[in-house]
Amino acid sequence: MSEMLTLALSKGRIFKETLPLLKAAGIEPIDDPETSRKLILETNQPDVRLIIVRASDVPTYVEYGGADMGIAGKDVLLEHPNAELYEPVDLEIACCKLMTAGKAEPTEIRGRLKVATKFVESTRRFYAAQGQQVDIIKLYGSMELAPLVGLADRIVDVVDTGNTLRANGLIPMEHIADISSRLIVNKASMKMKHAKIQAFIDNVRAAVVERSS
Ligand code: AMP
Repeated sequence: MSEMLTLALSKGRIFKETLPLLKAAGIEPIDDPETSRKLILETNQPDVRLIIVRASDVPTYVEYGGADMGIAGKDVLLEHPNAELYEPVDLEIACCKLMTAGKAEPTEIRGRLKVATKFVESTRRFYAAQGQQVDIIKLYGSMELAPLVGLADRIVDVVDTGNTLRANGLIPMEHIADISSRLIVNKASMKMKHAKIQAFIDNVRAAVVERSS
């Protein structure tokens, strides 16, 4: 049997925006993850399969060899600063910004700033670089709620149009990082399956260039 390539990615926006790039590389999934309950999706290429995992788990699967490659947002990768991974291609999809945000109506802040986020690592680094001591409150979702109920003074979240912030009376404040999805590769796979992975990288890179021209 020829060696299998496993690509980890998440459902939703990343999957949808990755499909055309995979197609340009000659890879088409046989099932649709939005309707199928399968977590392993076969493709038209017998030696390529996709696995569907939580976005925040993609770097873990790839680092430890559960997948040879993965597609992960830079927001997620920034939370895994010590992961042993290659990051050969910026796919320029799922683009947004990591930002701080707070109430549109300024309120008095006493003592240390309280910041609610699921992006603890990026938040810690951002405020440390400014020399500001803050209390970080880890949340797993619906960060916009935190300032509204007095849990936090600020949030750090990914912002696209800003509609979600505005709908909750918040405004974007400081820009922390530009975010887009990246192709990541397991270091051992890159050695062991070099020809196949290099061909995949070249095809995807060409598809990204083609799309932007
Ligand atoms: P927005 O367009 O700013 O209202 O974004 C809506 C919500 O979608 C935000 O609160 C984010 O949590 C999420 N979001 C926007 N863009 C991305 C992205 N590229 N990756 C992951 N989540 C995103």
